[in-house]
Amino acid sequence: MNWLKNLVPPKLRSLVGAQKEISDNLWYKCPGCTQMIYHRDLDKNLHVCQHCGHHLRIRAEQRLKMLFDNGKFALLELGKPLADPLKFRDLKKYSDRIRDARSKTGETDALKVGLGEIGGHKTVIAVLDFAFMGGSMGMAVGDGLITAARRAVSETAPLVVIPSSGGARMQEGILSLMQMTRSTIAVEEVKEAGLPYIVVLTDPTTGGVTASFAMLGDIQIAEPGSQIGFAGKRVIEQTIRETLPDGFQQAEYLLEHGMIDMVVHRQDLAATLARIIGLLHTTNVAPDTSPDDRQKEDAADAIPSTEVIVPDPSRPATKATDKGL
Ligand SMILES: [Zn+2]
Repeated sequence: MNWLKNLVPPKLRSLVGAQKEISDNLWYKCPGCTQMIYHRDLDKNLHVCQHCGHHLRIRAEQRLKMLFDNGKFALLELGKPLADPLKFRDLKKYSDRIRDARSKTGETDALKVGLGEIGGHKTVIAVLDFAFMGGSMGMAVGDGLITAARRAVSETAPLVVIPSSGGARMQEGILSLMQMTRSTIAVEEVKEAGLPYIVVLTDPTTGGVTASFAMLGDIQIAEPGSQIGFAGKRVIEQTIRETLPDGFQQAEYLLEHGMIDMVVHRQDLAATLARIIGLLHTTNVAPDTSPDDRQKEDAADAIPSTEVIVPDPSRPATKATDKGL
């Protein structure tokens, strides 16, 4: 029965009475068209439905493999900030929620940072994992983004960030909201160093993530059909008492209205990033400066640069540092 188990969609399988033997992991239901997709087809198509083109959500590590040349990269070690700083409890303790999310996903938090090459250009990519508590941004994510930005600066490499998030992590209260500022300053460090900062918006990018680092890219790319917005459609409709147009928070609508620069199919994402980085990141070009400017730069170089902060588990992540992060 193995061939049947692997190849026949579940509806047909129930007709031949083989349903009980079949693993749930072999077939996926497309959220776009509700058709069943065989797992090998899904992997082959980078988790894009072959029937309707719906881009399914994928895990952070899959993304990194998909985008770096030959799938090769090094994962950066991220700090471990204080767990459950507010001893928060809603229906469940926050510490229990974190523990569940860790055992379910095998990750310590919602951000992964990889260093590798895209089209031969050394690049840092930071990806949010929606599977971990809705990709919500708490202190760990804020710290991870700072680590990613500073590594990009020290490697003179562009930074690519791929959000997929419901917004700030409510269980960390004000500390999660502070990550909006911290991540924004981290991005500014990359920009001040003259390095490209590129954002690839994926489904969904909402809340405090949209309101901070996710909309600050030099180039804003989005995957087709992604939901991108701050507040949800229902909340906005109730507030302004107007009916909003269909798909107004979708990538295509945002492109039409000038909020983003391009909508790119997942299959073309790696090539598009390689092209953009190739255009924006010219490390070998000598700066066009006058002798006076050069003297000023030499003087500036003599001033000790700010210390690079390595995440320290013993220090609370929210402690003020030399740059106010
Ligand atoms: Zn589909």
